[in-house]
Amino acid sequence: MSFSTLVSDLTYRDTQQQREQHRPPISTTASTVSRARSYASTAATSVSVSGDIASQLHGGYSHPLARAWQAERQLTKSMLIYPIFITDNPDESELIPSLPGQRRMGLNKVVAFLQPLVRKGLKSVILFGVPLAPSAKDTLGTAADDPQGPVMAGIRLVRKNFPQLFVVADVCLCEYTSHGHCGILHEDGSLNNTLSVDRVSDVAMAYAEAGAHCVAPSDMNDGRIRAIKLKLIESGIAHRVVLMSYAAKFSGCLYGPFRDAAGSVPSFGDRKCYQLPPGGRGLARRAIERDIAEGADIIMVKPATQYLDIISDAKEIGKNMPIAAYHVSGEYAMIHAAAKAGVFDLKTMAFEATEGILRAGASIVVSYFTPDFLEWLDT
Ligand SMILES: [Zn+2]
Repeated sequence: MSFSTLVSDLTYRDTQQQREQHRPPISTTASTVSRARSYASTAATSVSVSGDIASQLHGGYSHPLARAWQAERQLTKSMLIYPIFITDNPDESELIPSLPGQRRMGLNKVVAFLQPLVRKGLKSVILFGVPLAPSAKDTLGTAADDPQGPVMAGIRLVRKNFPQLFVVADVCLCEYTSHGHCGILHEDGSLNNTLSVDRVSDVAMAYAEAGAHCVAPSDMNDGRIRAIKLKLIESGIAHRVVLMSYAAKFSGCLYGPFRDAAGSVPSFGDRKCYQLPPGGRGLARRAIERDIAEGADIIMVKPATQYLDIISDAKEIGKNMPIAAYHVSGEYAMIHAAAKAGVFDLKTMAFEATEGILRAGASIVVSYFTPDFLEWLDT
């Protein structure tokens, strides 16, 4: 309503009231009430004069439900993907000290671990292999697609026991290479992109053929999305496999706890030549554009809360596709540490951080808080 419409409306109502007042008053009290109502209208008008009618926002979000309606996306259980670390020691179930409440587990422990979560509404997991045997690692990451290895066997196990659960397989070589890098190296220690893409896309195919609903290459080698998509098409399974690209994966210190969990610390150097520099917004946009053009079905941004602008960019560039964000191990550990130190309440911050990620444009969140959210979203 415009200001002039409001004024004429109030003037009309006042005139009506004055006409009614020309009738003999029923009692003095009734007349006082009438004057009070008239005064309230005038006061409302003066609020709009001193500010603007558009400045009056509180009424729109005073009720809890009306507050919830302000969000474009509400956090739901189907938005969450839970990371699971599967080791090659079948009976292991070890808490990861740097990731509070999270564990590495062997194949014999996975079903019992997932059962209560699935009952509470868990919809999706992302599987990471953690080879612990000293002989498991070599320069080519051969163990990555070992048919009896933790991820391949894990995919088959989870699919068989939880037919409704959507299974994502992280695709990378760093957990399986003796040097801890995400591909195959030249003699000088730099990445051999061609060989790496060939190897990474073979691993993705193996996971897809083992039954993964989604393969998610996190290696950041140039051209791997196209290579995987082409192999999926050639083998006739492209119609049933989602290709989720870690298109905008930034280097930084937030992956520390994950590397403890997955045993994927590089034995020399770092991953700065293939992960994005934290200030590289333009580079991230180019990587997102490229991976969409190469056939990605979902774009992922990682980490999340330090890169909300990139999530927003991804949603703008890929406006017709789902955007995922990985709320990474360091972000999760920071929230736990700060809550433990009394800085804030854990649950409140977990929601605030995750709702920020959704607000920026994501509709999928890979989160270590998933088991908590399954509880919290029910209450
Ligand atoms: Zn990697």
